[in-house]
Amino acid sequence: MIYDVAVIGAGVIGTFIARELSRYDLSIALIERDSDVANGTSKANSGIVHAGYDVEEGTLKAKFNVKGNEMYEKVCSELHVPFKRIGSLVIATNEEEMQHIQMLYDRGIKNGVTSLKILDKEEVRLLEPNLDEDVIGALHAATCGIVGPFELTIALAENAVDNGAELMLNSEVIDLKRTKDGFNIQLKDGNKIKSKYVINAAGVYADIINNFVSNDKIDITPRKGEYFVFDKEVGALVNSVIFQCPTKLGKGVLVTPTVHGNILVGPNAENIEDKEGIDTTADGLHYLRDKASKTTKKIPFNKVITSFAGLRAVDTSGDFIIGESSDVEGLINVAGIQSPGLSSAPAIAKYIVDIIKTKIPNVKERECFINRREEIRLMELSNEEKQEVINRDKRYGNIVCRCEWITEGEIVDAIHRNAGATTVDGVKRRVRPGMGRCQGGFCGPRVVEILARELKVSPEEILKGNSGSNILSGVSKDNNLYGKAYEQVAANIEE
Ligand SMILES: Cc1cc2nc3c(=O)[nH]c(=O)nc-3n(C[C@H](O)[C@H](O)[C@H](O)COP(=O)(O)OP(=O)(O)OC[C@H]3O[C@@H](n4cnc5c(N)ncnc54)[C@H](O)[C@@H]3O)c2cc1C
Repeated sequence: MIYDVAVIGAGVIGTFIARELSRYDLSIALIERDSDVANGTSKANSGIVHAGYDVEEGTLKAKFNVKGNEMYEKVCSELHVPFKRIGSLVIATNEEEMQHIQMLYDRGIKNGVTSLKILDKEEVRLLEPNLDEDVIGALHAATCGIVGPFELTIALAENAVDNGAELMLNSEVIDLKRTKDGFNIQLKDGNKIKSKYVINAAGVYADIINNFVSNDKIDITPRKGEYFVFDKEVGALVNSVIFQCPTKLGKGVLVTPTVHGNILVGPNAENIEDKEGIDTTADGLHYLRDKASKTTKKIPFNKVITSFAGLRAVDTSGDFIIGESSDVEGLINVAGIQSPGLSSAPAIAKYIVDIIKTKIPNVKERECFINRREEIRLMELSNEEKQEVINRDKRYGNIVCRCEWITEGEIVDAIHRNAGATTVDGVKRRVRPGMGRCQGGFCGPRVVEILARELKVSPEEILKGNSGSNILSGVSKDNNLYGKAYEQVAANIEE
């Protein structure tokens, strides 16, 4: 078979494009090297839907950021993804920074950002009482939002599959060749895929995909950013996204709530060579701790629950590379998608679909497109609704993750949906067991058991994430009381 469109990379860009393409009568392959979607940069970023005042006028970043921001409510409500428009502040601690803020305000107006306001010290205090005494003013952007970046990516993939796209996991593209009627896409497992058009959304690897086939070379440098994640107990430290005023030395460190009520502090910025280099370092975390104190000295660093790092895909131009390759017809690059890539993703996806529509002019919209995605999040329901759900399926009455209050029913559902979870990390990113204070210390073994039971494999085969990340190697005790008790519970449920 020859696909109409192959999308390489199932991050937020690739999944958004696949979802938007799945509105049309097209055969779509969504090809991902890892064992799950949202496993690259789209799982490790600040989760901010930027307002768009920061990006330079005339760039692709500016073109897509503001438009993308405006599209967020609709897509998140359709796909049941957490999104909150909480606004942002860029804080200033001296007159020079106040001038910079004025420049950002003017740029924002030119970029079409609405609801920008420069606040004085008292106005800032009213919004954010915990900020440092030295803060003398701020740029307020009411349209800034926060989103669950991996929930969004997973929901987009699921919805694309609901609408007929074919998701191919564990499928690394190792070569690409132009043929007379399209492309031959060589996978690492030996399989070959043919497609009329290829969309290169491979994140930090987008240069490699492009360079397989094009002489117009791309060079992507991974730029690492590290973060602290704080317990929900300190979730009220700030109400909005707090940016420091950029200086000649860099953008500063931000402090932001997450959609789930944690606080994030980060990122730093370090160019590295390793495209898999997502380890956090003592130096990096020390830097964050030092710099964050400019925003507020009230950050309780004894409440950190974890740290992580993500890689920005930085092209030498500093801008996004979006559009058909200059020398390979049908290869559409969506490369160099560093920040504000998450914010821009909805608008980028629409733009790419428009390109495909010019290539395949007679393509029809599918009447049966499913635009919604429903799921049960028990803790979002009223007591009556909870009871009703539990009456229908007792597994929703069985709490597995006590930090995040996640039930067995939600985990089982996350496994069996289209593009469902097959790994412990996959369950964690879909429904959050392991995201809380204990970081999976208590619920982790139970998640392994549920995955093994639902996927009908042995617990030893259950992976944390990618291939080779097995958690268990065998039985260490014969009288596994916990396992027996669990089997009893499972048997009761079936009755
Ligand atoms: C520290 C940091 C903070 C950020 N904060 C924000 C923010 O607050 N707001 C914002 O708007 N943006 C932010 N960004 C940017 C945003 O996260 C990215 O723009 C976005 O996630 C990029 O998505 P993507 O789909 O292009 O890349 P990815 O999510 O990396 O997806 C690419 C996918 O391609 C797959 N792939 C690679 N090579 C192959 C191959 N050969 N075969 C098959 N599959 C392949 C990868 O496995 C991966 O899953 C931030 C980025 C970083 C690093």
